[in-house]
Amino acid sequence: MFDNLSDRLEAIGKRLRGKGRLTEENIQETLREVRMALLEADVALPVVKEFIAAVRERALGAEVTRSLSPGQAFVKIVHDQLVQVMGEQNDALDLSTRPPAVVMLAGLQGSGKTTSTAKLGRMLRERENKKVLAVSVDVYRPAAIDQLQRLTEEVGIDFHPTDSDADPVATVEAARDQARTGYYDVLLVDTAGRLHVDDEMMSEVRRVHDAVEPVETLFVVDSMTGQDAANTARAFDEALPLTGVILTKADGDARGGAALSIRQITGKPIKFLGIGEKTDALEPFHPDRMASRILGMGDVLSLVEEVERKVDRDQAERMAGKLKKGKGFDLEDMRSQLQQVTQMGGMGGLMDKLPGMGQMSEQVSQQMNDGQIRRQIAIINSMTPGERQRPDVINGSRKRRIANGCGLQVQDVNRLLKQHKQMQKMMKQFKKGGMKKMMRQMGGGGGFPPGGMPPGGGLPPGLGGR
Ligand code: GDP
Ligand code: MG
Repeated sequence: MFDNLSDRLEAIGKRLRGKGRLTEENIQETLREVRMALLEADVALPVVKEFIAAVRERALGAEVTRSLSPGQAFVKIVHDQLVQVMGEQNDALDLSTRPPAVVMLAGLQGSGKTTSTAKLGRMLRERENKKVLAVSVDVYRPAAIDQLQRLTEEVGIDFHPTDSDADPVATVEAARDQARTGYYDVLLVDTAGRLHVDDEMMSEVRRVHDAVEPVETLFVVDSMTGQDAANTARAFDEALPLTGVILTKADGDARGGAALSIRQITGKPIKFLGIGEKTDALEPFHPDRMASRILGMGDVLSLVEEVERKVDRDQAERMAGKLKKGKGFDLEDMRSQLQQVTQMGGMGGLMDKLPGMGQMSEQVSQQMNDGQIRRQIAIINSMTPGERQRPDVINGSRKRRIANGCGLQVQDVNRLLKQHKQMQKMMKQFKKGGMKKMMRQMGGGGGFPPGGMPPGGGLPPGLGGR
């Protein structure tokens, strides 16, 4: 699911990261692409429109934080909007009522109601230790009743037999009575579904609903339904007081639009995803995880959050102020940047989180492993404050003293001083040309401000700031 949408958004994000900053113009262009991607994923048009409007507003607003490049910031905005559209957090079943808690599943034929009934039963029994009874009110299709009976046996929950001559309401009431007298925690009600929404079916599920007043009334929908899912969801939502949605067949190659449309259109949370035909293939739906998956950004978002959290903002500001006053980037500044890298889990941790940097990270960590960062810090620690502020005074004998002090070689000191020179040069550029220029210099990617990540802070040239 979402493969295509994911590819499209990932491509957009990559291209944006190559840009220095967000302008009205590239926002417009990018939004057009996002819009196309959503429509191709079968997201309902009104949902797409609202989505784009919200992203535009946030992108043009003040949400681009200092710690993020505009490309990263845009990706984060799209991510957050996806999360919002899909419902913020996971909503679990709410079974807090006097038992038996009745859970009813409704939806079109073939959407996966019977399968989901069994999956839910299994989950409730295994994970929550509930005593579960299931009943089918699909009185017209004996095969459907047999199917549920077989599945309940498989998952180890009890089954209330259905008399196919009886009225669905009488059936569900009899099941509810059995659940009461048998001290069941939960009664699962599997209903009949037609191929299309029709009045007769709707009034029947409505009657079943009113007879047993479920605490949870779940709309089961096949994620392959695409644009139609929105209409079906609306029809069911009008006929029944839905409390949530089960989105089935999320394991298939459906384009995924339903996941984005349904919450927005019905206002009802997607509670579960069906991810296979087996009875254990049901998982709680987490909007944030789904959004990250859609964006296919590796762990880039957690990286972004980490940077936001851990970068010392005050320090970034002090640094910016210092640069403005025309003071150079000295070895004290370099040391604090190196320290920040170690705080963020070292280069290895940092590189692992960047998409596409998987293989690179091994190479990098060989050249620039955490031990090396610590050695660099040790070298700087071994200097006098005067040397840190004015590295030019460091002559041959001072180098020997510094190397001795930290138990390293003079050539290590030389390498560090050379790296410092490179960083200093970048910082000057920052002063002259501002952020934009520096980011271009860094290969456009970066977005780590001075005081944040070292721009190529000891990284091999060419990897700097990616
Ligand atoms: P109902 O008519 O709504 O009761 O639908 P069923 O539960 O009988 O399911 C219809 C078909 O969809 C069956 O072949 C199920 O095995 C299949 N199915 C249901 N849920 C899923 C799912 O999450 N993934 C996959 N791949 N198949 C599913
Ligand atoms: Mg069925």
